[in-house]
Amino acid sequence: MSRVLLVRPEESRSKYDFQGVIENECLELEWIMAILEAEGYEVTIFDRQVERKTFAAFLTGQEFDVFYGECRCFQEPFLLEYAELFKKQCGGLVIAGGIHAQICPERLYKDYIDIVLSGFNYYDLPAIIAGERTAANLSWQEAGEWHSTAKQPVDIRKMPRPNRSYFYAHPERYQYLDMKHAMWVRSAFSCPYRCRFCVRSHMNGGVYSRRDVNDLVDEIEENDNENVYLVDDDFLFDENYVRTFIHTIKERGIHRKYICYGRADFIAAHEDIIRDFKDIGLVYVLSGLEDISDERLISYDKRNTVANNERCIAVCKKYDVRLMAMFILGLDWRGKDFHKLYRYIRQNDLKHVAVSIYTPEIGISEAEYITDDLTHFDYLHLVARPVHLSVRQWYFHYYVLLIRLFLKAQRDGIYDFLDYGSYIRSFIRTILRRGEDDA
Ligand code: SF4
Repeated sequence: MSRVLLVRPEESRSKYDFQGVIENECLELEWIMAILEAEGYEVTIFDRQVERKTFAAFLTGQEFDVFYGECRCFQEPFLLEYAELFKKQCGGLVIAGGIHAQICPERLYKDYIDIVLSGFNYYDLPAIIAGERTAANLSWQEAGEWHSTAKQPVDIRKMPRPNRSYFYAHPERYQYLDMKHAMWVRSAFSCPYRCRFCVRSHMNGGVYSRRDVNDLVDEIEENDNENVYLVDDDFLFDENYVRTFIHTIKERGIHRKYICYGRADFIAAHEDIIRDFKDIGLVYVLSGLEDISDERLISYDKRNTVANNERCIAVCKKYDVRLMAMFILGLDWRGKDFHKLYRYIRQNDLKHVAVSIYTPEIGISEAEYITDDLTHFDYLHLVARPVHLSVRQWYFHYYVLLIRLFLKAQRDGIYDFLDYGSYIRSFIRTILRRGEDDA
């Protein structure tokens, strides 16, 4: 029987990681675990988000035949390090997959990687491990040459139930802010929208695929975990689907608390759905408001308006749903834009806010980058040059905004589980330290 190791590396090695604040269940590894165990493989998961040991320490004295590692763009250096170490130490078959592999598989073509799986067809893994090379979305190395099969989207209904034994073995982890041990459930692959900056709609070859709503509710019902994170890139998409979901949950008497992503235009146009969703347990809705100017929303191809965003804010307030308002900080911003955003957040009394630095994604953008360090593609670093400010000036305004947002959150009494003081001190130190090297 082959022993398979499924790995997800850490998200960051900087002091600004979200360990202990936001930790994502490794759903894709759990699907793979279910598929391989059904075929008789012995499977182990190593998720560095929650493991105390380093990968090197974990691997010492262990024997595995197969390594499968997944990563996002900013985790690529960590995954490569893990894969190389595994090859050196265990010498087995090394497979790389995950979101990054779907967008830029060629970046993972390394001597110590044998196979790159660039699709969701995890059900092909038993045959791939057995030596077949006919599955879709496959690249493999043979005598130093890489070969590939055609890309093919996957029907999400082919996914098995995930094996959640690892998730349940870590009851103190996998939280979303104050919602402890939040179980990830996915109803769809990809996103039907095409916002210019976003990599999510490129998943599954850009083909949107959604499960039957009863099957989704079955999965929630089968697990009595209190907190459920509906991790679709946009759960609030099809009005009939969401209404049926709410109705079915109610009808079956299922009591859970929910987190989901949803577009602001949908929330603005469907107040009754937000009311009913709140009624069955909606706590957080994560929405990309992105910007406070219609021109920029158009430039992002967001297909939304500032007026919709404001209506969305009002609807969430009315029904006491916590809106996690997500904004993008543009490369074309001047100092006054950072200030305007902060003023907008205050005026609209937004309690939960997340800001990301505009990041032209590798694989979907032609941008000229100012760094080749992929760990900087984490939305917390500039990877392309700002238009009107120097890198140093841009970061100065960025850190001032972060400090103001943290102070506001502290005044509002949210995120009490965070050590505000240490974040704020660290931002101030970073401002003082940033110098000639960034100019
Ligand atoms: S930003 Fe949201 S709505 Fe736009 S493509 Fe990405 S996931 Fe879809």
